[in-house]
Amino acid sequence: MNQTKETARSSPAHPRQVAAGNAVVLEAPRRTPVVADVDVLVVGGGPAGVAATLAAAQSGARTLCLERHGMLGGVWTAGLLNPLFDAFGKGWIVQALIDRLIAAQAWRKWNWTHTFDTEAMKLVLEEMFTEARAEWWYYTTCVDAIVEAGRIRGVVVESKSGREAVLAKVVIDCSGDGDLVARAGAGFDLGRQSDGLCQPMTLMFEVDGLGAFPEQQSSEVLYDHLQEAMARVGKVELPFGRAKNVPWIIHLPQAGSGAVQATHVYRVNALDSRALTQATVEARRQAHELVKVLRATPHLQDLRIRQTAAAIGVREARRIRGRYCLGSEDITAGRRFADGVTFGTFPVDVHEVNPDDKVRSSRISSTQPYEIPYRCLLPLGLEGVLVAGRCISGTHEAHASYRVTGTCMGMGQAAGLAAAMAAAENVGPDRIPGAVLKAELARRGVGLLDGKAPEAIVGDLYGEKLVWH
Ligand SMILES: Cc1cc2nc3c(=O)[nH]c(=O)nc-3n(C[C@H](O)[C@H](O)[C@H](O)COP(=O)(O)OP(=O)(O)OC[C@H]3O[C@@H](n4cnc5c(N)ncnc54)[C@H](O)[C@@H]3O)c2cc1C
Repeated sequence: MNQTKETARSSPAHPRQVAAGNAVVLEAPRRTPVVADVDVLVVGGGPAGVAATLAAAQSGARTLCLERHGMLGGVWTAGLLNPLFDAFGKGWIVQALIDRLIAAQAWRKWNWTHTFDTEAMKLVLEEMFTEARAEWWYYTTCVDAIVEAGRIRGVVVESKSGREAVLAKVVIDCSGDGDLVARAGAGFDLGRQSDGLCQPMTLMFEVDGLGAFPEQQSSEVLYDHLQEAMARVGKVELPFGRAKNVPWIIHLPQAGSGAVQATHVYRVNALDSRALTQATVEARRQAHELVKVLRATPHLQDLRIRQTAAAIGVREARRIRGRYCLGSEDITAGRRFADGVTFGTFPVDVHEVNPDDKVRSSRISSTQPYEIPYRCLLPLGLEGVLVAGRCISGTHEAHASYRVTGTCMGMGQAAGLAAAMAAAENVGPDRIPGAVLKAELARRGVGLLDGKAPEAIVGDLYGEKLVWH
């Protein structure tokens, strides 16, 4: 299915469409200056990218991270996402970040998991990068891959400095969308198998004035209060029904503040910047409309928007085809692998792809703690490169479990160490045996599942059995 067409049909009317038909321009060949040559180059400074950068730098590699925004953290910071799911037990870089946030008083228990202060997160990540002697460049977008004989040698970037090239022994694509590896010509999948549709997008926003609003245990109670309030103060168009597991107001560490997970924009292609623009405008409209009604629900009369996110939250884009494709059967079976380099415990949580779907987010509750093999991080048919984060190799359903940020960090720290090992030995990352990498990760205190029963793992991590309703 052509997602661009679908988006155009289902999105709100745009004031003016500027169409250039099928016209093209031919660009002249140009000489692009090489401005850096490093051991490990990380594209994207989101949860996977920061873990990869820190792991590589702490392992002695000269490491550079490129980020298009003016902050590290990706969806955590530019996207104002909370809470941090599936971070416990991952060890090493993941635990170090949690410890720093605790020390900064920027960490709060929320339900069975934790939230963090998004502003503190930006600062803490920059401090950790500085201490690890990692280099990073903001406002720098990776626009192309430099490929020689099937091996990625570096990237082309665009920024205020112009068009430049960066070379590296190993590159890690942590762009979330798999931009670099796709530009290098690797295969990928987009959306669900039947029609290519992806999960909806959500623009997160932060609020003040929570007052005595209690920690939500479910979304239904607030949804019902919203319906009652709309009967009194006037209807707004909600982008979801009662059964869709929204809205959530998630308490943040700063007293009286919260992150709101509610807006939904459907059938948007994350690889189309015009569609992304329309989706962001629509979601921001939804956020402001929603708050008007929320103010008429119990405890929320003082609610006000502190800020909407700088970037809309993309749940799903490319999934790069790798040497192993993680499937939902691996997740329900709690499969372990000889080259398992991190693990996930989060359920398969697919936010339904169509606005009219009456069912709630489809969840596979019977998730067993499962490992992610190193092979999911190795793109097929391309050398010198790894992927980490939500763009690794897996199915639409499996992705809906492993995409949470704690697990993306787990992949990132594994990719960063593997890249540093490969760079030190002057070989491609595919030459690092998964079992050797696993042993090296364990030596650094990375949590793995070896020999533990699923109940023990979940109990260790959360202090109680995780139950999904
Ligand atoms: C609305 C929403 C709610 C979610 N809820 C939760 C939740 O409650 N808890 C949880 O743990 N997870 C949640 N997730 C999942 C999670 O946020 C993402 O799957 C996760 O952030 C993926 O991490 P990543 O590092 O792969 O990608 P991202 O966080 O997307 O980071 C990618 C980074 O790369 C940068 N980048 C992209 N392209 C380029 C380029 N070409 N050049 C340079 N830089 C580039 C981006 O700016 C960004 O900083 C949610 C996601 C969404 C969208």
